Amino acid sequence: MEKKRVAIVGAGVSGLAACKHLLELGFRPVVFEADTVLGGVWARVPDFTALQTPRPMYQYSDFPWPDSVTEVFPDHRQVMAYLDAYARRFGVLDCVRFGHRVVGMDYCVYDAAGDGDGVAPPAWDWEEWGGNGEAFGSGDGEWRLTVADAEGSVETVILCIGRFSGVPNIPTFPPGKGPEVFDGQVIHSMDYSKMGTKKAKEMIKGKRVAVVGYLKSAIDIAAECAAVNGTDHPCTMVVRTKHWIIPDYIAWGVHISLLYLNRFAELLIHKPGEGFLLWLLAILLAPLRWLFSKFAESYYSIPMKKYGMVPEHSFFQALATCLVAIEPKGFYDRMEEGSIVLKKSKTFSFCKEGILVEGESSPIKCDINSAVGLTSTTVPLYRECIHPKIPQLAVLGYSESIANLYTSELRAKWLAHFMDGGFRLPNVAAMQKDILEWEKYMKRYAGRHFRRSCIGVLHIWYNDQLCRDMGCNPRRKKGFLAELFGIYGPGDYADLHPKKD
Ligand SMILES: Cc1cc2nc3c(=O)[nH]c(=O)nc-3n(C[C@H](O)[C@H](O)[C@H](O)COP(=O)(O)OP(=O)(O)OC[C@H]3O[C@@H](n4cnc5c(N)ncnc54)[C@H](O)[C@@H]3O)c2cc1C
Repeated sequence: MEKKRVAIVGAGVSGLAACKHLLELGFRPVVFEADTVLGGVWARVPDFTALQTPRPMYQYSDFPWPDSVTEVFPDHRQVMAYLDAYARRFGVLDCVRFGHRVVGMDYCVYDAAGDGDGVAPPAWDWEEWGGNGEAFGSGDGEWRLTVADAEGSVETVILCIGRFSGVPNIPTFPPGKGPEVFDGQVIHSMDYSKMGTKKAKEMIKGKRVAVVGYLKSAIDIAAECAAVNGTDHPCTMVVRTKHWIIPDYIAWGVHISLLYLNRFAELLIHKPGEGFLLWLLAILLAPLRWLFSKFAESYYSIPMKKYGMVPEHSFFQALATCLVAIEPKGFYDRMEEGSIVLKKSKTFSFCKEGILVEGESSPIKCDINSAVGLTSTTVPLYRECIHPKIPQLAVLGYSESIANLYTSELRAKWLAHFMDGGFRLPNVAAMQKDILEWEKYMKRYAGRHFRRSCIGVLHIWYNDQLCRDMGCNPRRKKGFLAELFGIYGPGDYADLHPKKD
């Protein structure tokens, strides 16, 4: 079978995995990376940023961390070194074109006249634009990419552009209440991270900084400000939604993964496409799910109570929506000493001197405001990877989990195997039905916190589907008890050998 030309956009965790798995199957992928380095988000983060996922869960299945890294949560430099080593080991680095931003993509079908010119599909022919009405199309078209100032064509594109790089998500404000009226500087967390540690520290030194937001990037930036300015110029955090910001995944001496990352834990949850027995079990075992969540909450809420920061949503909901964050070292101590000050407010607006929050008549005076916006969209992707109606295009890394590298890797393997002709996709209607069932599951457990696709608490069930598609046994452990209660992680899929249909 002739191997198609494939372009991968992005050289983060997902793009590297996609490239490695395609190379293994004999494809010749090209990775376009806008940045000058690989690593995606890890290349540009505040100094305090470390992994939030324990190391064994954030590794490629066939590439363990080196023995020299012993930390449970390696810092961003260690993550970068690990990714760099992976890219070198599997020949991925040679495929990456750094400094190449993809700025446009057009899908063209081959010209029947055979004069070499592709033609864009007619706009009204949406159902058929892939050539045959099937998902991923007939393979007869090509994507024309505009890369910075050059152009080129490929058969397939894999988008690995991440959720946290690219265009910052800035909220809109009524006239006279936005950043334009503020005398200081407003900077999005993405731009802050891109500045690099040295410049960022210089910028915030001796300044009054307010950080809007209360998740990973926000707390890392606040921790950095607190370290630089101490109590002389406390960093103010404007918190709209309280989140589970926790020190690690051990509560009362019990590793949380025992409660959430095994097959037994998934029996407590309704699943997309479940049969009667699983449905019944999920109903009968629901009280246990509640109990597990309360157990974790009773421990993690201890430091939060003091600051009135116990979230309104359950710990389980936070995991189901991928909205748990690990605190940068000493985060709550910084609050205690007063170098981080929290202001709870559902809304905020700008004024000349700073920002206005609910319940306070005078503004929070600041020189710099760092806004951290979260995107709130989902994209209908089959197996969280392929849009049923867009031909020759796949997306990796858009849907999340609590261990994204692990998720992206298996998905990349699945995708490469599919592109190699290993299995066929179902028809468009069946894919759409499956997507809706997954969305229903996510909304059911996320409630009003539903923001984006996250397979956090159904990772094994999701992986089972990928394994079955690839003709592999989804049961990766030896013995009934190990299968039921054993923690599933990347290592379980190290020797996965997909079969061809
Ligand atoms: C501060 C922070 C901490 C995190 N911690 C964890 C954690 O502990 N555990 C976890 O599981 N997840 C964590 N995440 C989530 C993280 O995003 C994923 O783990 C993972 O790194 C995402 O990899 P990716 O390759 O999918 O996307 P990214 O890392 O975002 O990479 C996307 C790449 O695409 C490139 N790109 C984008 N657009 C274009 C274009 N048009 N042309 C060319 N190139 C383009 C970008 O430059 C970038 O290099 C964290 C995220 C952040 C921001």
